[in-house]
Amino acid sequence: MNKRQNQRLLTRSLFFILFIVAPPLDIFRFDLTLNHFILFGQPWTLGLEAFQSGDVTPLQAGLNIILRGFVPLALVVGVGAWVSWRWGRLYCGWLCPHFSVVEIINSLMRRASGKLSVWDKKQLPQLQSDGKHIVPDGNWWFVTAIAAVGFAFLWAVALLTYLLPPGEIYTNLWNASLTRNQAVFLTVATIALTVEFTFARHLFCRYGCAVGVAQSLIWMGNKRSMVVGFDRQHASACVACDKSCEHACPMHLQPRSIKRKMFTCTQCMQCVQSCEQVQQKLSAPSLLKMVEKECALDVSMRDFGNRPETPQDCFEPRSKR
Ligand code: SF4
Ligand code: SF4
Repeated sequence: MNKRQNQRLLTRSLFFILFIVAPPLDIFRFDLTLNHFILFGQPWTLGLEAFQSGDVTPLQAGLNIILRGFVPLALVVGVGAWVSWRWGRLYCGWLCPHFSVVEIINSLMRRASGKLSVWDKKQLPQLQSDGKHIVPDGNWWFVTAIAAVGFAFLWAVALLTYLLPPGEIYTNLWNASLTRNQAVFLTVATIALTVEFTFARHLFCRYGCAVGVAQSLIWMGNKRSMVVGFDRQHASACVACDKSCEHACPMHLQPRSIKRKMFTCTQCMQCVQSCEQVQQKLSAPSLLKMVEKECALDVSMRDFGNRPETPQDCFEPRSKR
């Protein structure tokens, strides 16, 4: 793994842990029994109770709604939109706890079947760009099934603790004394998530996740935002390669294509790492690189005969190494 992939492993692992521990540590949750959010241990309400009991004036109540409701919401949406505008689905590739599961199940399925998903028609090459061999072994299906059910259960418990007091849920789980509704929720959510993680995890990332689709739509609107750039001038160097970048992509994308076809790119940079490894053997620089601003136009504006002018120095010269 290169430095970027190590950093990404760290950020997404830490965020996954945060996703699980945020409710029990009272960092963030919505408590249905109290009917309000809890943020860093403090109740986070719109202050309407004080208005109903006559303790604050209508003007103060209005200000409370703006300061405690609209402003935080606008901040979160605004920062998210700005990040997406500049860097695309960075949240998906670097933080999202669902994408972490996607990548883990992908790699386990690859070990079990040589494919990233049960819907793939062809197996991936056994020899990977880093020189390692992955020979499909059916025994890995067992591990894959355990991981899918295990992550589904973990997710179901986490989701429940975002809604009900986490102390009560974990105590009830420990003592096997869940209420009927809690048991029904956990059972149904675990089954649904197991099916999704096993058969439809890519589909969910592509079309089912509102956060992901919103990031993609905003990203598509900015032609200069960060994209995977391809050094087309030296495309002939791909002839000796088995499309390692495409095989490395967890979203089944073709990283050398135009931006319109990369709508669901999660900026995970696995394709870039793969090309680095392929080209390293030839002592040449990668043909793929994350680019932005003018260098991004070749990917974002190239379409139907449109060939935008891009700076000469977007990629490292091949003679340099
Ligand atoms: S195209 Fe590259 S950066 Fe985008 S999702 Fe695929 S591997 Fe990740
Ligand atoms: S861009 Fe790199 S990894 Fe992709 S096919 Fe060409 S040489 Fe191979």
